[in-house]
Amino acid sequence: MSLQLTNWNQFHMKQVPERRHGEEPLKAIKLRAFGGPETLICEEIALPSMGQGEVLVKIACCGVCHLDLILRSGMRSRVSLPRVLGHELAGEVVATGLGVNGFAAGDRVTVFNFQACGECADCLRGRPSLCRFTKGDIGQTRDGGYAEYAVLDAANLVRLPDGMAMEEACFAACVYGPPYKAIRKIGDIQPGHAVVITGASGGLGLAAIQIVNALGGRAIAITGSPGKVQLLKEKGASDVVVSPDGNFGEDVRALTDGRGVDLVVELTGSPTFAGTLRSLAPGGRCAVIGELHGTPVSVNLGLLIIKELRIEGVQSASRGELREILDFMHANGIKPEIWRRMPLAEAAEAHRQLHKRGAVGRILLVP
Ligand SMILES: [Zn+2]
Ligand SMILES: [Zn+2]
Repeated sequence: MSLQLTNWNQFHMKQVPERRHGEEPLKAIKLRAFGGPETLICEEIALPSMGQGEVLVKIACCGVCHLDLILRSGMRSRVSLPRVLGHELAGEVVATGLGVNGFAAGDRVTVFNFQACGECADCLRGRPSLCRFTKGDIGQTRDGGYAEYAVLDAANLVRLPDGMAMEEACFAACVYGPPYKAIRKIGDIQPGHAVVITGASGGLGLAAIQIVNALGGRAIAITGSPGKVQLLKEKGASDVVVSPDGNFGEDVRALTDGRGVDLVVELTGSPTFAGTLRSLAPGGRCAVIGELHGTPVSVNLGLLIIKELRIEGVQSASRGELREILDFMHANGIKPEIWRRMPLAEAAEAHRQLHKRGAVGRILLVP
């Protein structure tokens, strides 16, 4: 049963008193000034008000993303303060505002974090990440998941498959979205296809290895660090090429009887792009998800023509694709590796830990 409410006072009277027992106030991490991790202070919040088309979600967990570190530092101008960070969230619908159809109290949801307009030509052709009338992102221009509750636009919610854990689903959009789009939509990877993954030991790289394996493909992981070989093999890479200089093309060709691979999932960009081009088989595709340095690269267009290569950028999966990803993860038993679960109040420490980059796997904040 969903509560049709226009403001939080009504909701407060009907639902929240139990939460108020023992003077336990609602908490959120509200960023009030850009800076170091110390700017993430846990404070008591007023209950957020819920408008037309919006849904109140009780947050079960929220991932801490490298993007959050950048946003906190103030390097992204779109963030307006004060702001509750966090786009990797999952939780349970508590109440729905007027005009919300398709969601009801008790629904378990995660978010498609991009707030596209839903009406422009790009949105209507299923490319919301290209929307020029965007209202920004959850955790940037709208309060996100570093809180006990969030009010979210119903248009951003996606229901979880039955039986899927919240702490797995919360990473579906940000961690699994881009590699899924690269591997299934651009690569159309089938059993037996070979895929090179650059920067393979990062979160998206490990997710890419899982997706390729679930499809019966062969994941060839590229890393700059010999210390990551064992990890990548344990995580399911068929082969690992250590290439500190990014010239791994000949190694990949040797591993594929000289043919090259069907797809490169390019997670590092310019540092590895020469090796990437050299790795592609005739008709091969390159999905560019990451670019570390912003350095221009050179492309021999003759090679593109003769081998009929495709190079395509990937920003994010769409909301429809997110539904597919959740089903795909659940059906194939794909689980993100969770390195640490921390209470909401330790958000600053979570940012410090992530900055040290010692973690393999994700950090979760649990209210
Ligand atoms: Zn993220
Ligand atoms: Zn749009």
